[in-house]
Amino acid sequence: MRYSILTLFPELVRPWTQESIVQKAIAKGLISVGVRDIREQASDRHKTADDTPYGGGAGMVMRVDVSVRAIEAAGPADEVILLSPAGVPFTQALAEELATKEHLVLLCGRYEGIDARVEGFITREISIGDYVLMGGELGALVILEATARLIPGVIKEAESHRQDSFSSGLLDYPHYTRPVEFRGLRVPEILRSGHHTKIAEWRRKQALKRTKERRPDLLERAELTAQDWAWLEELERGGV
Ligand code: SAM
Repeated sequence: MRYSILTLFPELVRPWTQESIVQKAIAKGLISVGVRDIREQASDRHKTADDTPYGGGAGMVMRVDVSVRAIEAAGPADEVILLSPAGVPFTQALAEELATKEHLVLLCGRYEGIDARVEGFITREISIGDYVLMGGELGALVILEATARLIPGVIKEAESHRQDSFSSGLLDYPHYTRPVEFRGLRVPEILRSGHHTKIAEWRRKQALKRTKERRPDLLERAELTAQDWAWLEELERGGV
């Protein structure tokens, strides 16, 4: 997968590509991340990429001509995504869809955003949440993180993302590691029993319990078995 991140602040983005799993995935050739400065596409000697808004008002607006040239300079892409609070909410399902693409262009706005005519040159607008950030860079990195880890070979455990929160439609079950006891808090005995079927059952029940308590809305869309429904009823009665 190839990512092209278009930004007015490339140095905010580059360090993210130089550490940890993203850096390893790049080194292994599983992904490539090009960080491009939108300003390079400005034609005046001051490299101006923004201007005052038509109709007046506070703040600056990113120019459509400069932004579109930056999109075109990134080359042919499966998706050109504008990060925007007005976009569709980013979800795990969307991450899974985008992770199958060959080349994603991620266009980061700044100031009051980009001239609305850019809409004709993008394939989607994505929001990472109902709040307003100062720029699209964190959104682009959120999409990079969420999609790259779904690409085979990027994270070690093949099972790992299948059990993640949202992948199965439920929140993830709780995880524990050493020490067995910390300030009186013990690891649940079942996890040290070596009984794999019982452990899997406990984990599924915990995922159901957490989802019911914290995000009951997810249960309406999750794919649940008859056994899951039986456990949920047990939960209702105070069991599990
Ligand atoms: N005037 C815009 C509005 O109210 O919708 C906000 C512009 S914001 C200050 C500047 C840029 O940050 C946006 O163009 C967008 O690229 C990015 N941004 C801010 N919040 C975002 C969010 N929740 N999701 C994705 N991108 C966001």
